Amino acid sequence: MADTTPQSWDARATNSMFYGFTDLPSIRERGAVVLTHGEGPYVVDVEGKRYLDANSGLWNMVAGFDHPGLIEAAQAQYARFPGYHAFFGRMSDQTVMLSEKLIEVSPFETGKVFFTNSGSEANDTMVKMLWFMNKQRGMPTKRKIITRENAYHGVTVAAASMTGKPYNELFGLPLPEFVHVRCPHYWREALRGETEEEFTQRMADELDQTIRREGAQTIAAFVAEPVMGAGGVIPPSKGYFQAIAKVLKNHRIPFIADEVITGFGRTGNTWGCETYDFMPDAIISSKNLTAGFFPMGAVILGPELADTLQQVTDEVEEFPHGFTASGHPVGCAIALKAIDVVMNEGLADNVKALTPRFEEGLARLAEHPNIGEWRGKGFMGALEAVQDKATKTPFDAKLSVSERIANTCTDHGLICRPLGQSIVLCPPFIMTESQMDEMFDKLEKALNEVFKAIT
Ligand SMILES: *Cc1c(COP(=O)(O)O)cnc(C)c1O
Repeated sequence: MADTTPQSWDARATNSMFYGFTDLPSIRERGAVVLTHGEGPYVVDVEGKRYLDANSGLWNMVAGFDHPGLIEAAQAQYARFPGYHAFFGRMSDQTVMLSEKLIEVSPFETGKVFFTNSGSEANDTMVKMLWFMNKQRGMPTKRKIITRENAYHGVTVAAASMTGKPYNELFGLPLPEFVHVRCPHYWREALRGETEEEFTQRMADELDQTIRREGAQTIAAFVAEPVMGAGGVIPPSKGYFQAIAKVLKNHRIPFIADEVITGFGRTGNTWGCETYDFMPDAIISSKNLTAGFFPMGAVILGPELADTLQQVTDEVEEFPHGFTASGHPVGCAIALKAIDVVMNEGLADNVKALTPRFEEGLARLAEHPNIGEWRGKGFMGALEAVQDKATKTPFDAKLSVSERIANTCTDHGLICRPLGQSIVLCPPFIMTESQMDEMFDKLEKALNEVFKAIT
């Protein structure tokens, strides 16, 4: 158990750090895990214990924790030009090259890129772009943003308002002008006897009614993750994005895809919108954009939004927005390398090749009487714990079932994440067959131990 002497790493961390997104009772009982380094998909703590990180850090370390090509790209750029901004018409050559690259690999024929340091900032930037654009075009009240319950779009003020999680109430959020529609989770949300097609149509009808109720002229955009990530890995119901896109098109409302998790290979294609066959008006990117080797986010505007925003900005003569480290040369050099590594060094291919094995593993564990559903796409998956499989009744929240499973996994040297009553797996793209087997073996052991203890 936790070493609680004052000189322990745990005590030093707890005394000096203000923890975010951390369950404090768990930490008090178990102590913090302080890591020193990583090897491939494994991380190693201060005591030398190795863990297979089935969450790729926080979805982002897709090339593992010691990729030599990425380290070399970072070192070379630090030696050449270790930092610059992108204000006043000055920027690094790497920043220009990455902008071109992002448009090239995007689903858009033409477009424009704006860099941030995180996914949250990219979402806030997108919102400010829309507000700026609509105000200048004589539509100052076209400001509302529609997202879904359970969506995760980040933690800055606009991004948190877009996020559909109950904890935002603790901050008095969302701000006004942020509207949430229902989460398209068929297994959990379907009415009795409702087919998946009927469910999808109900989701689209609800969006249509919401738009009519709020007034299409007051709505700036609809924003959605192709697969909800921090909501517990929730792929859309069948035909969902086609049905939603039709409604948005009718009302001429831009459709923004938040591809912070799904971008660059996670669902088996470069973009989640490819996997689900829809065309957004803009893409929000971050996390594995740099394979997690540098904090960076990007707004990738498709042709229409890029042209409109450019016209409006030409009139004002400036888009007064940007972060000091936007388009940082080291981040851009790393991102250029990361895109190459994922797309051309077999990582994306590995996701495609091992997805059937990943799905088989999830399906096998879902046979357990206390797993209600497995779900996922590509290398993102979840198992949802239930007390009663037939009625889908969840466990008593006080049992903290998913935390217990994740903590037991940690004891066995596997890192995975509890989300609601689900366990989330999002392995790095470099994961081998035998590492995948290790992941499922350890998880199975933990599931059996925890369910045995509480049922
Ligand atoms: C993580 C995430 C964000 C926020 O990114 P940060 O870099 O943590 O600010 C936004 N959208 C989605 C879909 C995410 O998963």
